[in-house]
Amino acid sequence: MKHYPFILFYLFCNVFIYAFQGTFWVYFFCFLGFTVVLAWGSFDITLGYFVNSITHKRTKIKEVALTFDDGPTEFTPKFLDILKENNVKATFFCIGKQIEKYPKTFQRIIAEGHTIGNHTLSHSNTTGFLSASKMVEEIEKCDEVMLKVGNLKTDLYRPPFGVTNPNIAKAIKKTHKKSIGWNVRSLDTITEDEKKIYRKVTKGLKKGSIILLHDTSEKTYNVLVELLLFLEHEKFSTFTIENIFTTKRTKLLHNAHK
Ligand SMILES: [Zn+2]
Repeated sequence: MKHYPFILFYLFCNVFIYAFQGTFWVYFFCFLGFTVVLAWGSFDITLGYFVNSITHKRTKIKEVALTFDDGPTEFTPKFLDILKENNVKATFFCIGKQIEKYPKTFQRIIAEGHTIGNHTLSHSNTTGFLSASKMVEEIEKCDEVMLKVGNLKTDLYRPPFGVTNPNIAKAIKKTHKKSIGWNVRSLDTITEDEKKIYRKVTKGLKKGSIILLHDTSEKTYNVLVELLLFLEHEKFSTFTIENIFTTKRTKLLHNAHK
């Protein structure tokens, strides 16, 4: 966890308290401000406030990563079909309980060469309020399901809802995961309008962008069809999250041999 915002904030409060001679309301507003900063820090994964998440790839070429959360679902096979047709590899952050529901689909994702990441066992709505040990359990139980159903181990982890806080930071460290965020949100779970989702994604694309999508609806499938056409037209290639680390490792090896 980074402490400098807290120190800055503390100094800032002191200046205020000094200037306004320490009334109750100054303390109150300082506390309010502090709470807002904390809440914002835990919900915006791109800030890296509690956990340093990877939100993009450093690259000079036009390439982006497609990442799909919350599957596998009944819609996932359609996503796999179109990715295969376009010869595109993506990254799927799967929920343990969904894998138990759709084991065959999970095995197919692996067989078709996509990258898999851990997205907890149950994707609980109360993720942000769980204890560190409960979070560890959520991550480890998902690992167990992945190993049992897909004979697969992954060190990639995506926080449900992008929420990070000190407990989640501890759990990530304890389970030796790498936290993976995004820098392009599609808002495909909130927006119903396919065109809006498509515009939101394509507008923000940069070299090395990681795009957050969900393989949980027909709507996102339709967006994906358009998005793949866009990427082809704009000459964007794709990478998977695993590729970020293999590229890094190759570079390190390469430098070591020099
Ligand atoms: Zn999710």
